[in-house]
Amino acid sequence: MTQPNSIEARDIAYHLHPYTNAKKHRETGPLVIERGHGIYVTDSNGHTYIEAMAGLWSVALGFSEKRLIAAATRQMETLPFYHTFTHKSHGPVIDLAERMVGMAPVPMSKAFFTNSGSEANDTALKLIWYRANALGQPQRKKVISRERAYHGVTIAAASLTGLAGNHRSFDLPIPGILRTGCPHHWRDAEAGESEEAFATRRAEELEQLILREGPETIAAFWGEPVQGAGGVVVPPRTYWEKIQQVLRKYDILLVADEVICGFGRTGRMFGSQTYGIEPDIMLLSKQLSSSYLPISALVANERVIAPIVEESDRIGTLGHGFTAGGHPVAAAVALETLKIIEERGLVEHAAAVGNRLQAGLAGLLDHPLVGEVRGVGLVAAIELVVDKSRKQALPAPGQLGTLVNAQLQAHGVIGRNMLDAVAFCPPLIITEAEVDELVARVRRALDASLALARAAA
Ligand code: PMP
Repeated sequence: MTQPNSIEARDIAYHLHPYTNAKKHRETGPLVIERGHGIYVTDSNGHTYIEAMAGLWSVALGFSEKRLIAAATRQMETLPFYHTFTHKSHGPVIDLAERMVGMAPVPMSKAFFTNSGSEANDTALKLIWYRANALGQPQRKKVISRERAYHGVTIAAASLTGLAGNHRSFDLPIPGILRTGCPHHWRDAEAGESEEAFATRRAEELEQLILREGPETIAAFWGEPVQGAGGVVVPPRTYWEKIQQVLRKYDILLVADEVICGFGRTGRMFGSQTYGIEPDIMLLSKQLSSSYLPISALVANERVIAPIVEESDRIGTLGHGFTAGGHPVAAAVALETLKIIEERGLVEHAAAVGNRLQAGLAGLLDHPLVGEVRGVGLVAAIELVVDKSRKQALPAPGQLGTLVNAQLQAHGVIGRNMLDAVAFCPPLIITEAEVDELVARVRRALDASLALARAAA
């Protein structure tokens, strides 16, 4: 029971939480995190946890990077705010735009700044519509997204998201968002179907969808290189190559949502490099500033930008932009984050410790509750089952995942379950010894879950 006027009681009284059962929260109460250090956070009762999700897939540099604080302070003291509407600009946003275009894995033209992954996704859809009108192709407005995709929660972004929980009772998705299959081989492949054959089938399904709808009506295909919030779905071999062949054939733009994958997460600077993706638009956020401040960006090539420039001249303005987009303090923190990632070789580090994490988690495959271990670099998931051969979890979807996630927390690990998968996405600064400690705690949590899961089956 929470004490009256305790921090927990006040949270229950006054705070409506995102992604939370608001009624259940009255009994469960909050886990109040008070401080962080390195990969660890400490709650208001003094318990310390490995933050194995880096917050929300985002705190690349851990919870105590002094250089980011110094960068923010310096910028606050010089120019705490300025905007970029109506021809105004400032140094940090110019430096960051140049940096992002320069570091992109394919030739890019310009960067546009927003404050969240959702805003970057909404902006991308609006710019794609604007461009279609600029090109005199007003019929080319539909876009294709995938089952289990996660692109955010604003109206367009939530519509692009392929998860029922983001649509139900919100009257979403909006029209014009088409859906194609999720590339999860373990779950969706037919018996005996190889990864390559499954990838071919997904690409054929995409082509059939395009032909059914009319290729001239399709503007873009949307995808995370690795699907994150849908349960860390790593694409099967040859998937992206085959998908891109179809898109090129029908002149369809490719939007890579790199909000999780960007800046080293998959062991390369961008997920697009890990999978040979050549996007027309990249969406970036989270690790861009290590989430110390909100910032996101859309980076697009000339094929996208040139018609937008023309249309803005025809209309007289590009009537889009957020007050805080490209905020100078957030931009300064982002620049410093990128500098640290480069100076400390954190992308190569993520690849190396990522291999250790993947191998360590794969070592849990002998556990009765572990159905599949999947991942790349420093992002991974364990698919939980009670019946391995039938790939089945407990009767209620998410029941087993919630149970194991609670045991992880009890064993000093903050993870996150997406239905019956538990995800791990630790800060990029995690060391080999910390990876080993994380894996050991996960095993103990699984052991503690076993009797509870059997009792619930
Ligand atoms: N795209 C992806 C791939 C994401 O993972 C997320 C957030 N988890 C978003 C978009 C939305 O970002 P935000 O929560 O900052 O709106």
